[in-house]
Amino acid sequence: MESWQSIAVPKLDYALSMPSLSLTDSKTGSKNQLAKKDLYRMYVCGITPYDATHLGHAATYLTFDLLQRYLRASGSEVNYVQNITDIDDPLLERANRDGVDWQVLAHSQIDLFRSDMVALRVIPPAHYIGAVEAIPLVVQAIQGLASKGTTYLIEDDLYFANGACSDFGSLSHLSKKEMEIIFSQRGGDPTLIGKKDSLDCLVWMAQRPGEPGWDSELGKGRPGWHIECTAIANQYLSPDSENPELIDIQGGGSDLIFPHHEMCRSQATVLTGKELASTYVHAGMLGLDGEKMSKSKGNLVFVSTLLAEGVDPMVIRYALMMEHYHRDRMWTNEVLLQAQNEINNLRTALSMQHVESAETVMSEVVSALANDLDTPSALHALQSWATRSQKGSGGGDSITLRNFLDALLGLEFQL
Ligand code: ZN
Repeated sequence: MESWQSIAVPKLDYALSMPSLSLTDSKTGSKNQLAKKDLYRMYVCGITPYDATHLGHAATYLTFDLLQRYLRASGSEVNYVQNITDIDDPLLERANRDGVDWQVLAHSQIDLFRSDMVALRVIPPAHYIGAVEAIPLVVQAIQGLASKGTTYLIEDDLYFANGACSDFGSLSHLSKKEMEIIFSQRGGDPTLIGKKDSLDCLVWMAQRPGEPGWDSELGKGRPGWHIECTAIANQYLSPDSENPELIDIQGGGSDLIFPHHEMCRSQATVLTGKELASTYVHAGMLGLDGEKMSKSKGNLVFVSTLLAEGVDPMVIRYALMMEHYHRDRMWTNEVLLQAQNEINNLRTALSMQHVESAETVMSEVVSALANDLDTPSALHALQSWATRSQKGSGGGDSITLRNFLDALLGLEFQL
């Protein structure tokens, strides 16, 4: 699948000391300091293309953009892979509901997602992989699981027995009862007759009448959701035999911890004998005006709507950084207004001829980002610098800081 257009990242023209990045790991619940590496392997779960791109999506991909920018500025490379679930039940259901062809719907939403990502200056993944194009990989992964005796049939559908993973549940830390409830709410089928365990997950669904299917050694059908990501991560992130984990970072929104990432982890562990990721990173959820933002409530705010209303994409980006990525937060008009005011404050300072030296503020921003991508502290430091500069504190130039903001935070100021 074609990724979106590349985003220019300026070279830093000032030598910065970049400490190792610490990130909250969902599996341990504590901060992991990433070991310094030349190349990091990061997999972030992409959208199912039927309602792109709401602000929750934007907050998630912005989080991993900041992460990638930090690692790159530290002199490392990042092999970033993102999938796109371009065949799954929710996509078919939405297409049926709206009376449109599922492929037409998917393509239109993928295009919208790409243009939203470009507007928000999110660096594209090196590999952007659709579920449909990944079917041969998925089949291969399922065959790998089958060879270990961990799959079984219910009628013509294939299921993965998650009991094969001895520490299933160690990512989400939920009780079995909690897992069953959430599984049922998020597309799972815990009460299906014939399952060996209520939490076993579908890996290959036989073709249903009126639905698409692809020929394979497993019969004509389509992939389950979880195995799609397991197979793509395994293939595109070049598992390094020296590492006890397949990849460095697995990421997504916190609603993916269970069942999606728990399932991916258990499949990957059984398939390869390795832990899937050394750090599991999850972005919090976004609410609107005091309510959870969700498809069912119909209160999703879309990036494209805000852009069409004339909101500066940099203001959206800034607003999403005003809260810590890990926390659930509310989106309100006040948040947007505050972001606009703070952007204006920064822009005014950056356009001045005499500003305070950027050395201290850059080091404050780097320290904040190194500490679990603490963007609220980073933005606070920038606002203080802007205010001091406007009050007459001099000794520096704004070009160095503009480059820095562009490279590290993806904030581009055209003055
Ligand atoms: Zn995924």
